[in-house]
Amino acid sequence: MKKLQLLIKPVSSACNLKCAYCFYRDEEQHRMDRGRGRMDTETVKVIVDKALAAAQTCVFGFQGGEPTLAGLPFFEEFAAYVEQKKRPRQQVSYTIQTNGTELSDEWMDFFREKGFLVGLSLDGVRRSHDENRKDQDGAGSFSRAFACAEKLQEYRIPFHVLCVLNRQTAERIEAIYRFFCRKGFYAQQYIPCLDPLGEQRGKQSYSLTPAVFESVMKKLFDLWYADQMSGVPVYIRQFENYVEMLAGGQPEACSMYGKCSMQNVIESDGTVYPCDFYALDAWAMGNIKDPALDFVKLWQWSVSEHPAPFFRESAKRDARCSGCRWYPLCRGGCRRDCETEKEGFRNVYCEAYQNFFAHSIGRLERLTALRRHFPYGI
Ligand code: SF4
Ligand code: SF4
Repeated sequence: MKKLQLLIKPVSSACNLKCAYCFYRDEEQHRMDRGRGRMDTETVKVIVDKALAAAQTCVFGFQGGEPTLAGLPFFEEFAAYVEQKKRPRQQVSYTIQTNGTELSDEWMDFFREKGFLVGLSLDGVRRSHDENRKDQDGAGSFSRAFACAEKLQEYRIPFHVLCVLNRQTAERIEAIYRFFCRKGFYAQQYIPCLDPLGEQRGKQSYSLTPAVFESVMKKLFDLWYADQMSGVPVYIRQFENYVEMLAGGQPEACSMYGKCSMQNVIESDGTVYPCDFYALDAWAMGNIKDPALDFVKLWQWSVSEHPAPFFRESAKRDARCSGCRWYPLCRGGCRRDCETEKEGFRNVYCEAYQNFFAHSIGRLERLTALRRHFPYGI
């Protein structure tokens, strides 16, 4: 395997915040085995050994819950073990997704030294952030997360702001976009909020509806496109993927593949799941500590007809997708946004996507052509 990406959960779903919409806490409530604790040294060594044996390039990603609750020594020992075991010329890199509330200067030194790419959860301006991202005592976490963003800038650590699209952020999306740009947070990802498993969509205080999603996508696109034309270097992951696809390349977002890909989510006890949104008992693929399991085998299951039902089922699409004009860009979207087999796998945002593409396609194509002619900037 050329490249292997892992999504490791050092403390399972443990977190110092209690965000209203946390999908991972919701998933944990649906599992038999809750509260798996902190990852032990044996599990770390097995993960590192098997990853380095499987691929020439390994990307170790950490997520939670809040992964930094494992403590800095956990990460220092992890990286030291990687250094000890990696072969000459083997490439390794690190990413981490954090709420940024507890990161000291020592963490910053460590991130900088090891070349971490950080994903910082920041739901925009104070009001939209604090409405949903509260700590265990009910206090908003904006000030601490924002201070972390400034510290990342000060230390010149590359980071993306990860903004969940929900009712509260949608209401203020233009202010949020402008706030991020004003502060120099140019790498942005906007992630649609998930409703709880098994519950009717759209019923939570934070729920994102298809109409709101469509309106947010259009607004963000208009703002982003205007900045692209003015030479402002804003990166919005979803739009950049569309441009890449129009240029003949491959998207890097799994929701744009037309089928789920293997995300290698590894829980603190070593259990492997195919995707963060499906870390449920029904989809567990084994434990990485099992001597018979390795990352090559897991990858083979994800691309073959092996009875790993998650991937086989993920290729099923709404009957309308095959004749859809927008399929080459949309490809049916994320499986968590699709209805059940009985309902025909319809993506709840289907009409929103159709209207968004009709709104943006001319400008997406123009931008793709401009980038081909001016690859170093418009
Ligand atoms: S469910 Fe969504 S996030 Fe998970 S692998 Fe499939 S497309 Fe990606
Ligand atoms: S817009 Fe709708 S029909 Fe078209 S590809 Fe996307 S989900 Fe399928």
